Amino acid sequence: MQLNPQLVDLPVYQPGRPLEEVARELGLPLDDLIKLASNENPLGPSPKAIKAMQQGASQTHLYPDGNAFYLRNRLAKKLEVEPNNLIFGNGSNEIIEFVAHALLGAETNIVVSQYCFAIYPIVAHLAGADCISVPARNHGHDLTAMLEAITPDTRIVFVANPNNPTGTLASKNEVMNLMENLPDQVLFVLDEAYLEFLDDPVNMLPFINTKPNLLLMRTFSKIYGLAGLRVGYGIGHPAFISVLEKVRQPFNLNAMAQAAALAALDDDIHLHQTRETNKAGLKYFESEFEKLGIEFVPSHANFILARVGDGQQTFLDLQKCGIITRPMGGYQLPEWIRITVGTAEQNERCLNALIDLR
Ligand code: PMP
Repeated sequence: MQLNPQLVDLPVYQPGRPLEEVARELGLPLDDLIKLASNENPLGPSPKAIKAMQQGASQTHLYPDGNAFYLRNRLAKKLEVEPNNLIFGNGSNEIIEFVAHALLGAETNIVVSQYCFAIYPIVAHLAGADCISVPARNHGHDLTAMLEAITPDTRIVFVANPNNPTGTLASKNEVMNLMENLPDQVLFVLDEAYLEFLDDPVNMLPFINTKPNLLLMRTFSKIYGLAGLRVGYGIGHPAFISVLEKVRQPFNLNAMAQAAALAALDDDIHLHQTRETNKAGLKYFESEFEKLGIEFVPSHANFILARVGDGQQTFLDLQKCGIITRPMGGYQLPEWIRITVGTAEQNERCLNALIDLR
């Protein structure tokens, strides 16, 4: 077979390890394990979403609604945008693929920050494009330097705000400055996967109908607790959204996912509890790390980076204690691990294990 040459050196993305896999490997009882590795919601899915899936189960012999009519309209209303400002993906990961299909190829490039979400460069390389990685500033994005890094071949600038894996947040001024000074032919993907954890997020929705090169990305995997269903969405100018629709497979959003996401949108109590649990958990980790003299990056999301020395070894040691975290070697941060904020009990267990390992 003549494989596409860009596949030769392409790494396989390493996700957080599933609970069952670790239980099998270490011979530990599943119930004793906790996963703080993939920035999931420790409170689980919304009870309303579970009920909606139970109700929808008997209709799963039918293909889903390829246009996600009910979810699209409800979400549009909630965001105060039009239904044609929205495109849905099998997780927001799939939206990243849509934009790559639409804009990238040989002799093009994307601009990202040093510690960016790992999928952006992978998808760019898959499309045969190059990736310009701009050095981070205090672990976060240097949006001015990213603007300066743009070349005539640049097609997309990816910014996650807050960023994964660092939890850093760019200010409104920085984001606005980037948007306003970006050449018209460069797409600005603002990945807002963790936006709902912020108290006072930058609202970029007012610009989607006047900036055809702005695409916001969000997900039901984080605060909505539906990572297992794979629902993400893009919010953008109708002209660009209609181009992305050409790339999308007709039934990419399954019926259960549509039903659950629709129900979760109306569960303000679950959303509120999740936000509060996360806020308390972040505060806990940050204050305990300070007391212990463990360096960390102050986080605006539902996870925190901690400098533990040998990140891979700490990850393995914590795993033996039944706690799955994420080593950061793949992100050029070998001394760090990323810990997802869990319930108070999970956070305490993780911290105590870290103390025991010292
Ligand atoms: N963007 C960022 C910044 C993320 O951290 C993640 C999940 N790790 C995603 C996108 C993808 O999320 P999903 O595909 O589950 O919507």
